[in-house]
Amino acid sequence: MTVPGWLPLRPDLAGRTAYGAPQIDVPVRLNTNENPYGPSAGLVRAIADDEVIQQLLLAFGGPGRSALGFEPSYSMHPLTARATATAWLSGARDGDFGLDPGRAVQAIRDQRPELVFLTSPNNPTGGALPLAVIEAMCDAAPGMVVVDEAYAEFARDGTPSALALLPRYRRLVITRTMSKAFALAGARVGYLAADPAVIEALLLVRLPYHLSAVTQAVARAALAHAAEPLATVQALRAERDRLVEWLRGQGLAVADSDANFVLFGEFGDAHAIWQALLERGVLIRETGPPGWLRVTAGTPAEMDAFRDALLPVLAGASEEARP
Ligand code: PMP
Repeated sequence: MTVPGWLPLRPDLAGRTAYGAPQIDVPVRLNTNENPYGPSAGLVRAIADDEVIQQLLLAFGGPGRSALGFEPSYSMHPLTARATATAWLSGARDGDFGLDPGRAVQAIRDQRPELVFLTSPNNPTGGALPLAVIEAMCDAAPGMVVVDEAYAEFARDGTPSALALLPRYRRLVITRTMSKAFALAGARVGYLAADPAVIEALLLVRLPYHLSAVTQAVARAALAHAAEPLATVQALRAERDRLVEWLRGQGLAVADSDANFVLFGEFGDAHAIWQALLERGVLIRETGPPGWLRVTAGTPAEMDAFRDALLPVLAGASEEARP
């Protein structure tokens, strides 16, 4: 299958054939230079990288091309863009961390990037984008629209996935990972959903056998037992919602969250809050816009410890702020 002209594939990849050793189901397969004895048990280790974002940038980005994202968002998108020599164009989210479709569409029309990155639910702010916003971007984008749904399983009830839009937009790509809801970050399994022609284009840039048999086995086992990790997702969503309510109850600003973390603020000196929590044995993340901090939803005991540590820190901070 060749990649059709409606995909913004790099011109130097057009007409090329993807690597592949044709495999045929016969009893004796001696065509791929592999050791027939398999790995020793002690050596079995998942080493495949999770590189779907990089593959998208390698196929559709590159020198002379650009990718647009709306920040604050996942910092690996601009880093991977740079690593693939794709110019990164930074759009801004609104004050409430949402995305105004009019402004976002205008940014796409002005800059005509080959790729648009949307993170939904967004990291580090937490909220998911309404489908209407993603639709508006797909209508305006001249190239690929990539929706990074790494945290989709944690979304609040009634938050639809961009998967619903796939049948209508053939240049839309949805990426997911097994690192979060499935708690399998160590296995490095990422995957994407897209039109078959998009997958065909990605085969031109991916490394051969990049997803090891071990990793595939781990992913299959995780899917077969999906009910167990997904039950912990329910617990984490409930813990997340309690955390949002509790932080708001302390008079703090808290971004709506569809993820397994919560962004809260705003502090004159967020680093001091972070440091004081650390001194009480609680490590959270200094990330996002200045004055905000991100805390991951953990076990009920961890959340109790976080709340117990934050209360005196907040009291101390408000005392210091007094004239
Ligand atoms: N997308 C987003 C938005 C993320 O926050 C992360 C992890 N921090 C990933 C993708 C990648 O996760 P992994 O590489 O473990 O699959």
